[in-house]
Amino acid sequence: MRTVRTVAELRSTLTPARREGLTIGLVPTMGALHEGHLSLIRHAREHCDLVVVSLFVNPAQFNERSDLERYPRRESDDAAQAAAVGADVLFAPSVEEVYPTGFATTVEVLGVTERLEGAARGPEHFRGVATVVTKLLCMALPDVAYFGQKDAQQVVVIRRLTADLNLPVRIEALPTVREPDGLAMSSRNALLTPAERAQALALPAALAAARDLAVTGERATAALLDAARQAMLPFDVEAEYIALVEPDTLEPIDALSGPALLALAARIGEVRLIDNEVLQPAATATAARQTPSQPLQGKTTATCSA
Ligand code: AMP
Repeated sequence: MRTVRTVAELRSTLTPARREGLTIGLVPTMGALHEGHLSLIRHAREHCDLVVVSLFVNPAQFNERSDLERYPRRESDDAAQAAAVGADVLFAPSVEEVYPTGFATTVEVLGVTERLEGAARGPEHFRGVATVVTKLLCMALPDVAYFGQKDAQQVVVIRRLTADLNLPVRIEALPTVREPDGLAMSSRNALLTPAERAQALALPAALAAARDLAVTGERATAALLDAARQAMLPFDVEAEYIALVEPDTLEPIDALSGPALLALAARIGEVRLIDNEVLQPAATATAARQTPSQPLQGKTTATCSA
């Protein structure tokens, strides 16, 4: 695996491959790689000729300075892990490379950024995400870019921006990878104390409670959200938000009548975690239980022919 730090080096590495007709897959990350990231890289490896992993802790998407400062950074471990699962190129630019002096352009997606994480973290968060993802796509020009369903709203925002800006890339969302006890893997989990790690199980417990109630035939959003909130109480954790929304528009819904995204965020000590699951109404709930974190648009199998 080759590590490159500038856009010029990235381009000179990828251009010959693209000319030969090889397909390029991009996995954008902020590093501190875990099995969730590795599942994306492995999937890209299976479906693309050339796999690029980007590693950039994007200051523009952090709405809290302390979160940015605390964010785990371990590039040499990340490089070893990415290489071990078959990445060809690690693109690890500096902040100055991504945002040089005079940088003045941002990408702002309206509508779908205004709820859930956007409402909780403020407009700068998704402006930062949309801007850096657009830049990474323009830098690497991949055929396919892979994202985790763990950040469900991010996937919706990125699908919106690639469609709106006619970017010639396919966006693939892959299922959330969880610890054996159900906690969604996250780079921020490393910041939890052992006691907080136990409390963090409030998030998957909330999702399980709503899912279990939906399986019994309950469709009312109020009842499903109430069950989810109640399940968090024994952990002494309160949701920052918890919502049942339409999966593509993220508009709140009153009742389950088809697949719906149950999304929540909670602060455990200083660490803010998010999780989500697609709920199905009872008639199709068995299938939903078998694949609790399936991607919203069913694109789990990518071929790299964009
Ligand atoms: P991050 O480094 O947190 O920005 O994440 C980089 C990519 O990995 C994003 O597309 C995330 O949605 C994805 N990701 C993070 N955690 C998981 C997980 N537990 N399972 C699957 N994908 C994940």
